Amino acid sequence: MEDKSTLKQCNIQILKIHEVHPVWRILPPITYEVKKANIKARFLTGTYLLQEHIQRFNGNSDEQKCLLCQIEQEDLIQFLLRCPALNEQRQKVFPALKQAILCNIGQNKWQEHFTGNKELLMQVIIDSSKVRENILILNDETSTEIERISRKLCYDLHCGRTLLHKRMAVARQFEAKDPGCKD
Ligand SMILES: [Zn+2]
Repeated sequence: MEDKSTLKQCNIQILKIHEVHPVWRILPPITYEVKKANIKARFLTGTYLLQEHIQRFNGNSDEQKCLLCQIEQEDLIQFLLRCPALNEQRQKVFPALKQAILCNIGQNKWQEHFTGNKELLMQVIIDSSKVRENILILNDETSTEIERISRKLCYDLHCGRTLLHKRMAVARQFEAKDPGCKD
């Protein structure tokens, strides 16, 4: 199972010992939260399709580019942490996530491990239980808080992305019907 590339960010030790993964264990029984956890689980299992994956199917490297910003390849880090088109959604949730991590490890360790290390931040968002213990030892309260915040972050980014894609599709349809309106 270690070789399965779609499960790179998932703590598969938990799956092996038949425990329920925190994405499901730390979840209030509210429909809206379950909906958010469904999206989070798709990131966890690598089944959320980003342009990077679509390109792999189609073999066209132009299609790797993020459709929202057209700046760089859309992969997990770009989507979660960098795409400027989703800054608004990110800014609303990110300070709380940073605060939860800071409370746990303190300012010095944050500087040491997280500055310039987007891979690590991505890992915390997708599955904080997989971060090495000497960096992040989480008590139950902090695990719950990080899971709650990252669930919201993934869901809000997903909604922002979906909405922008829909708007672009409508604009394309409009252009196709009336090519003259471009001028
Ligand atoms: Zn982008």
